[in-house]
Amino acid sequence: RQKLIGLRHAETKKMPQDEDLLEDLVFKATKGGHKVFVSGTPDDDLFVDPVDLDADDLPNVVNDLDFDYFPSAETSSSLADSPEVQAKLDKAIADVDIRILNPPREGKKLLVLDLDYTLFDMKSTAESINELKRPFLEEFMTLAYQHYDIVIWSQTKWTYLEMKLTDLGLLTSDAFKLMFVLDISCMFSVRSMYKGKPRTHQVKALPIIWAHFPDRFGPHNTVHIDDVSRNFAVNPQQGLKIKAFKRAAVNRATDRELFRLSAYLIHLATSVPDFRSLDHAR
Ligand code: MG
Repeated sequence: RQKLIGLRHAETKKMPQDEDLLEDLVFKATKGGHKVFVSGTPDDDLFVDPVDLDADDLPNVVNDLDFDYFPSAETSSSLADSPEVQAKLDKAIADVDIRILNPPREGKKLLVLDLDYTLFDMKSTAESINELKRPFLEEFMTLAYQHYDIVIWSQTKWTYLEMKLTDLGLLTSDAFKLMFVLDISCMFSVRSMYKGKPRTHQVKALPIIWAHFPDRFGPHNTVHIDDVSRNFAVNPQQGLKIKAFKRAAVNRATDRELFRLSAYLIHLATSVPDFRSLDHAR
């Protein structure tokens, strides 16, 4: 968001571009000295779409469509035990079509990752998707892959999901592989309590995955990272809520969530034999 005025590229003669190095720039020929300007907008003066502000910044607005879910011992046990949820779970387990991209590896834990706002800012506009990737995405995936088989689960239709995964380079890396990908068709709705009121919302129910890999994965070795905690409603103990990555142009400079999470995931994999003792919120 900055322009350098009064300089040009020595070879192309064009205005400096983002990828140009300072050493390749020369002064524009002028009489009586050289003037160089930097023009741009400070972060504080940028226009910000109100919908991108954190909820904390908008205390008087209640967004019913994006309510968050705070699991409690009461809600989690009642949900998992509910015959209605159990029936939906059984149906989802029978219906799911898991297409293995890379087979599970011996001795690895399971990491289930959300995509939108967890691994990239899906709403901001940018010239390249690289500008929307959450900082340290590749490093995070590479480090996590050493200890975890990785599944991406997104509340999106497969067509868009495949496009996003391809653009982000998540299907073609040599440093990490995805075991498989699940889309919105593998989610079902539940009624859970939010601030004392029942709410209906979709969930990403981990037992769907566990049922298909009973000897490998279960509550004892799975971590589920998402920026929307109601997705954990059926399995709150495995849920690790990550701060949503929005307004990439501004937050890219300071967002270190994935960097720190990779250290946490490695710590878990190497020194916590059973994840059921964990409370990720702490
Ligand atoms: Mg998300």
